[in-house]
Amino acid sequence: MSTSVDPLARAMAILAHDGEHAYEAVVPPIAQTSLFTFSSYAEMEETYRGQKVRPTYTRGLNPTVRLFEEKMAALECGDDAIGFASGMAAIASTVLAFVQPGDRIVCVEHVYPDAYRLFQTYLKRMNVTVDYVDGRDHDAVRRALPGARLFYMESPTSWLMHVHDVAALAGIARENGAISIIDNSWASPIFQQPLTLGVDLVVHSASKYIGGHSDVVAGVVVGSGGLIGEIRSRIYPYLGGKLSPFDAWLLLRGLRTLPIRMRAHEAAGLHVARELAKRPDVVAVYHPGLSNGLLDGLQGTSGLFSFEFDGSVDIARFADSLRFFKLGVSWGGHESLVVPAQVVRAQAAGPNSAIDFGVSDRVVRLHVGLEGQDALVADLSQAIREAKMS
Ligand SMILES: *Cc1c(COP(=O)(O)O)cnc(C)c1O
Repeated sequence: MSTSVDPLARAMAILAHDGEHAYEAVVPPIAQTSLFTFSSYAEMEETYRGQKVRPTYTRGLNPTVRLFEEKMAALECGDDAIGFASGMAAIASTVLAFVQPGDRIVCVEHVYPDAYRLFQTYLKRMNVTVDYVDGRDHDAVRRALPGARLFYMESPTSWLMHVHDVAALAGIARENGAISIIDNSWASPIFQQPLTLGVDLVVHSASKYIGGHSDVVAGVVVGSGGLIGEIRSRIYPYLGGKLSPFDAWLLLRGLRTLPIRMRAHEAAGLHVARELAKRPDVVAVYHPGLSNGLLDGLQGTSGLFSFEFDGSVDIARFADSLRFFKLGVSWGGHESLVVPAQVVRAQAAGPNSAIDFGVSDRVVRLHVGLEGQDALVADLSQAIREAKMS
């Protein structure tokens, strides 16, 4: 069912139109205000009765935030969207809008670690159980789904980059009456439009490629008018993790270059991954573009992937020897980043510290930024040379 129109051209057309603004400004203004006043008692009453839709309070509706939501809905081929203060606010609000105590969620393995922690701690406390399945095993998904309220997935998954047949999994969820949710942060709407593959709701950490400049933390959910309406009816009065006008304005700025940034991350990411795959000290490269062939709904690949060293490299020394790749979490900006799995596993003590996310200590995650692929490959080579254990 995916559209035959070139997704890049489609995205460019959506992003070229911001509507008309005061003074014919080419960039939309930031409506940096908490509230909007009414010209009369009658107008206020009409608005509160729901006969008129207009901004009242920024937690509900703000013109700058709305512009971002409309663009995301169009890019993801959905009816409507809600902007959030973070990707986790989008994930938590979307899940909490639909589950009740006693409900069950089916989730693919290796989802974003904080989503996993939400499921394993907070939802467990609410008496919501989560069953994990290998999403590449459709029979296992089919066995797990009956009776589930939600089916939650990523494709590719975090760290190990398992690619799923999104259309098939969405179909199995639908047959079983479960609402399907996918975290599409990795591919962005440029390389994957899950709603066209039958998924019900798409969530994003807009802190990553959508913003694209590592200067904003934000999230969004996109879907049908009905489902987004249900989520909104719970966010506005209860959960409140709404996107702010200035952050929405930064996201609108980031979106304008999303199509060309994604192409650049794709090309550089593939080049770096292929060079790493040639090395004898690298035992595996987890990049969905390396296995030639079927990408299952993906139309391209981004700059985030992982690889695994053999025993000959000191990972701490490797990380400290890199010059372009900075040690840091998050991804999706202009800069290249490195995260060793062994550091994430050793996350500071706390109620969530015991949760093992199932990735070997020899795995390293890279985000390939926009510094230039040859410089990045050279940087990795010199750092590996420095880190050889004698
Ligand atoms: C970063 C990330 C999130 C969480 O988003 P925040 O904006 O940091 O709250 C969710 N999913 C994935 C895949 C991520 O990488």
